[in-house]
Amino acid sequence: MKLPPVEYEAPTTVAEALGLLTEHQDEASVLAGGQSLIPLLALRLARPAMLVDINGLRELSGMSLTGGWLAVGAMTREYIAEESPVVAESVPLLAAALPLIGHEAIRSRGTIGGSLAHGDPAAELPAVALALDAEFVVRSQSGERIIPAAEWFEGYLTTSRRPDELLVEVRFPRAGPGTGVAFLEVARRHGDFAIVGLAASLTLADGLIGDARLALAGVSDIPVRAVDAEHLLFGQRPSDDLFEEAARRVAAVIDPPADLHGSSEYRRKLAATLVRRGLQAAAADAGERR
Ligand SMILES: Cc1cc2nc3c(=O)[nH]c(=O)nc-3n(C[C@H](O)[C@H](O)[C@H](O)COP(=O)(O)OP(=O)(O)OC[C@H]3O[C@@H](n4cnc5c(N)ncnc54)[C@H](O)[C@@H]3O)c2cc1C
Repeated sequence: MKLPPVEYEAPTTVAEALGLLTEHQDEASVLAGGQSLIPLLALRLARPAMLVDINGLRELSGMSLTGGWLAVGAMTREYIAEESPVVAESVPLLAAALPLIGHEAIRSRGTIGGSLAHGDPAAELPAVALALDAEFVVRSQSGERIIPAAEWFEGYLTTSRRPDELLVEVRFPRAGPGTGVAFLEVARRHGDFAIVGLAASLTLADGLIGDARLALAGVSDIPVRAVDAEHLLFGQRPSDDLFEEAARRVAAVIDPPADLHGSSEYRRKLAATLVRRGLQAAAADAGERR
């Protein structure tokens, strides 16, 4: 399907982009890699009056390590982050999730900021950001705000970004020593969105779990953090029984939606299985990285 008629602006500076967003508010949509927005336009599921194409804003691309954080510019393409040894070393959970996003052609255009601004609850990066307590840096003409991941995802494809704000950077905390990770998902075909996905990170110290992070994709209208299970794991020695109990706790608290890909009960069982297997994989990974 062809796109509906839409005005198009391609600013060359962030200031210019912010001016357009301030002027047009929710009549404007930011165009990054276009991998989600263009299909939405083609299907008439989004009808902005104007596209603000930010592909010319070079200052929004690139990654840097600052203090305990990996700062990723919003326009950094998914494949650039996927191939980066810095990402693999500093935020291994992000590195584990990136290759599962769609296909190579999609990741070559799709951006880290685009995926997180889109906020699809079945997508990989929102679960990673939530699990790791990433920070979202948004800018408007009135200044900058830093929004914690727990406050970023507000509803289905809805974030706490205001229409006059541009997501400029996402900060992921660097993994500490003894951290093992796993990103597991079940999808109908390779490259499809996950039916259920799991981001898992465990940090071991002296054989005990010092930090546990679990976030699920595909079980609600936003990514879901499994706080109960994380509390159970904290301070414990990794074991199959412990991971089984964590999986039970997750299954007990989630209320997944049903659709043509699976019933609510199917998703619940899938989530429990992924939690058990994800924790085993993360614990094994932590052992290897020590
Ligand atoms: C066939 C197919 C399969 C896919 N499979 C997956 C998958 O398995 N997992 C997955 O996670 N994704 C998948 N995707 C989506 C892909 O990852 C997209 O790249 C991503 O969701 C959006 O990134 P983008 O840069 O293309 O953003 P765009 O499509 O350009 O924008 C997406 C939304 O975010 C907003 N936006 C973008 N950047 C900013 C910014 N800097 N500030 C404010 N708002 C912004 C836009 O206005 C729009 O609302 C798939 C896409 C396709 C076409």
